[in-house]
Amino acid sequence: MDPFADTLRRLREAFSAGRTRPAEFRAAQLRGLGRFLQEHKQLLHEALAQDLHKAAFEADISELIMCQNEVDLALKNLPTWMKDEPVAKNLLTQMGSAFIRKEPFGLALIISPWNYPVNLTLVPLVGALAAGNCVVLKPSEISKSTEKVLAEVLPQYLDQSCFAVVLGGPQETGRLLEHKFDYIFFTGSPRVGRIVMSAAAKHLTPVTLELGGKNPCYVDDDCDPQTVANRVTWFRYFNTGQTCVAPDYVLCSPDTQERLLPALQSSITRFYGEDPRSSPSLGRIVSDKHFQRLRGLLGCGRVAIGGQSDESERYIAPTVLVDVEETEPVMQEEIFGPILPIVNVRSLDEAIDFINRREKPLALYAFSNSKQVVNQILDRTSSGSFGGNEGFTYLTLTSLPLGGVGASGKSLQQRQTFAC
Ligand code: NAD
Repeated sequence: MDPFADTLRRLREAFSAGRTRPAEFRAAQLRGLGRFLQEHKQLLHEALAQDLHKAAFEADISELIMCQNEVDLALKNLPTWMKDEPVAKNLLTQMGSAFIRKEPFGLALIISPWNYPVNLTLVPLVGALAAGNCVVLKPSEISKSTEKVLAEVLPQYLDQSCFAVVLGGPQETGRLLEHKFDYIFFTGSPRVGRIVMSAAAKHLTPVTLELGGKNPCYVDDDCDPQTVANRVTWFRYFNTGQTCVAPDYVLCSPDTQERLLPALQSSITRFYGEDPRSSPSLGRIVSDKHFQRLRGLLGCGRVAIGGQSDESERYIAPTVLVDVEETEPVMQEEIFGPILPIVNVRSLDEAIDFINRREKPLALYAFSNSKQVVNQILDRTSSGSFGGNEGFTYLTLTSLPLGGVGASGKSLQQRQTFAC
């Protein structure tokens, strides 16, 4: 018995009938999605609080507003995006018309993770709907409350002959992937990205892989430690460190480390208070499995700041580790939690060499008062995105694409860069 066959057949029939192609239909779906976001803001806040202890402010700026912005952008640009694009002709083809027509792929599958479970499900959905596809959404089974809202409420706002939410974990998603889709948009870990890409290869289905990894953050000796600490704290501990583009570790000299540590302590206290556990701005680890994994990482190097944890709440304090060896687990796996190791390097060249010896990261950060230093890092490394003296504020720019490169993802090879 195949639990997905009927749903997929229904969606394919709708696509073949041309139901999703007209501009009016696409706009109506996008408006429906916008209404869902507005009318169920409270429900989404509650679901995100249950799943991740996410504060309403964080939920708004990193999930709901970003989705609404994408909806607005798509509605505004839909007529332009759908237009045929005339191209240059040569002497031989002067009498005809040559143009590029943008076609929907057909049946698109979107698989999303739990860390920004609204944003990373609905932003790809906006693109798929605007492009005139039928869509199957497979949200993460780990962010359960959000999964429930997406499965039970969202379909009421979209045409159900062209759109479906399916539920399941690894096993069910494995079965779903046996089916042929016309496009797969996957956001998640590199490990599962490989599984998705292999399944897609069987049908020669094109894929976008939005993956993760370890994002380096170089801090130059020539910097203002407090400004750097404020920004690193904000972006490392946002969403309790469970962010794919968060700075994963700091690379700096021992001298800069000494100046940075009191500054980091001061930022953490300023942002989360003397007792971060009681701060309404600090979330919790999503599951027991991830909590145990992160608690294990607290044993690497030496705790310089934080280090406290409480299993009953899945609480881990904003933590900074020093004296960390490259071979320790905290420097081998993506941390994805509120832990920031500092690794010492003696020079800019050594930092660049350290970065380039590893997989190409999803995001890379460089802090320096010297523009040349920031530009050297930008010029001599490769990553999906780059922040110069900044964290991931670039995510708020709908004008910049997002994607990884190599092991951090498979999308168009272009580097999103924002420096100040
Ligand atoms: P994950 O890879 O474990 O799961 C992602 C999705 O894949 C979920 O919907 C899950 O149900 C499904 N899945 C899990 N195991 C599967 C299997 N064996 N076969 C088929 N499907 C399976 O990732 P996660 O833990 O939900 O999210 C964390 C990861 O996502 C991190 O690596 C993070 O960096 C990455 N991420 C990347 C981006 C980006 O934009 N590049 C954004 C957010 C998260």
